[in-house]
Amino acid sequence: MPKITRVYGGNQDELPLRVTHRKGNKKKAPSIRAKCPCCAEAVVIFPESRPTGNPQIDSVEINGVHASVAQWRELLLPILGIGSIQTLTIRGIGMNKLHTHPVGAGKNLFGRRLKIGEVLQKIDRLDSPSGDWESIPGTLVGKTIKNNLKIYIRPAAI
Ligand SMILES: [Zn+2]
Repeated sequence: MPKITRVYGGNQDELPLRVTHRKGNKKKAPSIRAKCPCCAEAVVIFPESRPTGNPQIDSVEINGVHASVAQWRELLLPILGIGSIQTLTIRGIGMNKLHTHPVGAGKNLFGRRLKIGEVLQKIDRLDSPSGDWESIPGTLVGKTIKNNLKIYIRPAAI
């Protein structure tokens, strides 16, 4: 039997999550199982077995749902209160709105501002000092936003 780790989240009065790390073998990849503090329900997570470090390529399976690391970040980080400056909306994460350029008069862009922790995509734009919303440089594609120094906008599909 794998060893059970009790996760309290800093509060010993709370019932712990019971977590087991299962080693992989020829048939099964390594997994992490977290059992509900109150019942037999559990979530089973299969991390990427051969991580490349690119969150858009690496994938994680959670309870049978396969998605990229980048997709899980988009979904889970705001819920967990990490890197979130926007709140969850009914439609999804963040809100699409019209952004005015900080220096470019009349240069408006419809989309949502990306948060710290989100991964930049080819379609994203940034507030260039030229006064326009320029495409992000190719070197930034797949990179994680580390600070709020630049305004990164993901244009909304129309
Ligand atoms: Zn339960």
